[in-house]
Amino acid sequence: MKQGKLIIFSAPSGAGKTTIVKHLLGKFPSLSFSISATTRELRGQEQHGKDYYFISKEDFLHRVALHEFVEFEEVYNGTFYGTLRSEIERIWNAGRHVIFDIDVEGGLRLKRKYEQDALAIFVQPPSLEVLKERLSGRGTDSAEKLAERFAKAEKELGYADKFDVTLKNYDLETACAEAEKLVGDFLVS
Ligand code: 5GP
Repeated sequence: MKQGKLIIFSAPSGAGKTTIVKHLLGKFPSLSFSISATTRELRGQEQHGKDYYFISKEDFLHRVALHEFVEFEEVYNGTFYGTLRSEIERIWNAGRHVIFDIDVEGGLRLKRKYEQDALAIFVQPPSLEVLKERLSGRGTDSAEKLAERFAKAEKELGYADKFDVTLKNYDLETACAEAEKLVGDFLVS
């Protein structure tokens, strides 16, 4: 297996990283999205094997015991998310680079593991208030779940300086153009 590169997008939930990652996937045919495993419920239009591998907590913890994850987190209370080693290998074996949409802790863990082969980008929202509006506007989470997401987002905003780059997402078009430049430069480096 030839090792490709890793592009890590991390941010508090609602900062816009998923939109930026989708934009980049449309621009760079050499990138493939790392489909994480999660124990959370499917939301809206999401599909198993496309957005996530939706698996039971029992299956997830069994895979943890078998060391199948390169990183995993209990991102929210009782809800696990993780990157399977087999997922990275699948993408590298296809001759592509991997792009991740992952929480801040997980992103930093991948960066520590893959060092120079990884570019870790922190997506910064305009403010905590804007973030809260975006999260509430989704209308998919209960009040309790939202409160948990807000608390986590507030903590994560303090992690920006641990990343290779901070990408301000104040205007989506500008952020997508900057992301393209960063990723393009890294892939040819
Ligand atoms: P959501 O439930 O909104 O899809 O995702 C919640 C959070 O979990 C987001 O910040 C998302 O980026 C993060 N996440 C998704 N996949 C992974 C993963 O494999 N590992 C970790 N650590 N976080 C993940």
